[in-house]
Amino acid sequence: MKSVPEKSLTYKRKDCDLEVSEQKFKLRLERICGRRLNLRINDNVSSLLNVTYPRARPKDPAGRKEINVSINRIFLQAPPEVIEAVGQFIRRATQKNRTIIRRFIYENWHKIRSPSAPRRLVVKGKYFNLAEVLKKVNREYFQGKLRVRISWSLPRGRLDTVASDKTEHKRRRRKRSFRYIQFAAYDETHRLIRVNPRLDNKRVPSYFMEYIIYHEMLHSIIPPRLTPSGRLVYHTPEFRRRERLFKYYEKARQWEENCFDKI
Ligand SMILES: [Zn+2]
Repeated sequence: MKSVPEKSLTYKRKDCDLEVSEQKFKLRLERICGRRLNLRINDNVSSLLNVTYPRARPKDPAGRKEINVSINRIFLQAPPEVIEAVGQFIRRATQKNRTIIRRFIYENWHKIRSPSAPRRLVVKGKYFNLAEVLKKVNREYFQGKLRVRISWSLPRGRLDTVASDKTEHKRRRRKRSFRYIQFAAYDETHRLIRVNPRLDNKRVPSYFMEYIIYHEMLHSIIPPRLTPSGRLVYHTPEFRRRERLFKYYEKARQWEENCFDKI
């Protein structure tokens, strides 16, 4: 008889464990909220907890249909009081259960982004040395005290954008196949800023590159805010206020709006 390699056995068992714990998690939540759930565990960054209730039909006012719950994977490892709060939240959102959930997210939000370890860090480009730009911005705005790393990014993973919602919206409307670019991303797990290599272009002014990096550095010190619907807002009013302290803020935004498409 052919023996099954050890590795695949381990993998299968691990897979199974995961299933069981998701199932257990679902049952626990159902017990707490007293309703049947259609539960989806996700790795979504922007919607950590999303609850949609089925519309109650006149003949079935109690709404016996399942409640749709989409929840981020980090909650699988949450302490009992947080899971209790999630169950209560599904039944009825209150200030109390919302606060418990919010606190849990604040304490764990660094686990949400980018689970993969960074590969080699590349700082030298053809036109920009990212380490030098980072050092300059750090000195000018953070007394040289911010401890983050930087690298040109590889063409994968989720990247952040500094474009305002308005700009994004306009770009989307302009044409369907818009060239929507994400400039850079901050990865809290590895305290790493990843910059899109497309910015390594001689037409990109240094103040724009500095602005992009300054923006990502701010992400490393200003935590996101959780909305009542469970969405994480990274560009909070406080974030925007700090962002405007960048010396060439207006100039950088204008360059982005008018010249970026030309590179
Ligand atoms: Zn951002």
